[in-house]
Amino acid sequence: MPKMTLTEKILCRKSGRAEVRPGENVWVNVDVLMTHDVCGPGTIGVFRREFGKEARVWDPNRVVLIPDHYIFTTDSLANRNVDILREFAKEQGIRYFYDVIDDSEGRWRYKAEKGPFKRQYGSRYAGVCHSALPEHGHTRPGEVLLGTDSHTCTAGAFNEFATGIGNTDAGFVLGTGRILLRIPPTLRFLLDGELPSGVMAKDVILHIIGMIGFDGATYKAMEYGGEGVGGLTMDDRMTIANMAIEAGGKNGIFPCDEATVAFVRERTEAEGTVSEFEPVEQDLGAPVEAEYRIDLSELEPLVALHPNPGNRRKAREVTDIKIDRAYIGSCTGGKTSDFLAFARIVKGKEVKVPTFGVPATPRVVEELQRAQLGEKTVWEILEESGVRMTENASCAACLGGPEDSFGRLNSPMTCISATNRNFPGRMGHRDSRVILASPATVAASALAGHIADPRD
Ligand code: SF4
Repeated sequence: MPKMTLTEKILCRKSGRAEVRPGENVWVNVDVLMTHDVCGPGTIGVFRREFGKEARVWDPNRVVLIPDHYIFTTDSLANRNVDILREFAKEQGIRYFYDVIDDSEGRWRYKAEKGPFKRQYGSRYAGVCHSALPEHGHTRPGEVLLGTDSHTCTAGAFNEFATGIGNTDAGFVLGTGRILLRIPPTLRFLLDGELPSGVMAKDVILHIIGMIGFDGATYKAMEYGGEGVGGLTMDDRMTIANMAIEAGGKNGIFPCDEATVAFVRERTEAEGTVSEFEPVEQDLGAPVEAEYRIDLSELEPLVALHPNPGNRRKAREVTDIKIDRAYIGSCTGGKTSDFLAFARIVKGKEVKVPTFGVPATPRVVEELQRAQLGEKTVWEILEESGVRMTENASCAACLGGPEDSFGRLNSPMTCISATNRNFPGRMGHRDSRVILASPATVAASALAGHIADPRD
């Protein structure tokens, strides 16, 4: 077989070709298509318009519907979007619909009078799609996963080709199971060493985006390799793959190792999803557009200042920047491990600025309420330090959303956030400013009231 990158190998396999090269256009068979409450209704509209009112999706077991964006809001149009997904799932016999409510005949309505903190979802609800997909056994090595969301690239952590697509493409995939893709050129990042204390996976990707620029990987695959990968947890790899799009990348992708296989086996078996998969093996001799070496042990806590994710600074060099708010959550920074790192820093102390915590999924909520750090649970530690923790796992203020979204920046202010994107207006008010950082740096900054280095 000719030497190919991870991305090329998968797209070659899924297009039935013997070889593919960057720049070629190929028809690719899709393994999983995910859509959510924001783009799902539009995608369904395109599907009906192009394939007819009576059309059936190409494979109801390969379509995953995850309401997660504008869920805990009184905005009736946002609530209605969840109902549209429910009606479509019923009509098409879609098995993997992670509804907000348990009543398949019901209507979703958020009850503001119950307050934002206590859970308002049923037993099937899954939370933020990119965290929910692996949790619920929909990410597998060697596959092609498409989603109507730019951070679908997160699933590249599991050695698959995963990328975001628009509603028109998604409507076409719903009807055919296929997509026309241009093979992206690859940038390879070889990681050496181990992350030092206080430095997290978020710092790795902020370092990379700062190095190549927030458009430095436009329509390119970001492939990771090197012995440093073995020291990264699956959560770490998800954080790094998640932000490929923040450098303009088509996808981010990791090699498959024992940790990948163990995670995918455990999740697919527990969830009863397809548990067979065929990883693609990394060939470091495959030609790439550029190759970079990064010594993880030399990295420091970083931030990306307003107004883009490539605006990298060392946290210790910008401690004069005051913050009005801190936020931990999202598909980038809302995992159990992210909250643990945060809790270790704020334990026994009190945050100085309003701080909002939004777990990515209900499972994260359960883990934080169960896991002990000394005498107390992680959840208790966070609440006692002043973090406003909600059980309503969702995207919340990560992308602003309706005005009553939990933690939304409704006035001009500066927020340090464990999320992934900080373009103007991203988390609410158009004159607000978002500083991206790791959960550890967000925690240290929340305690200080200004950007702070968590190693201090
Ligand atoms: S948490 Fe933020 S980045 Fe992730 S899917 Fe939701 S809105 Fe997008």
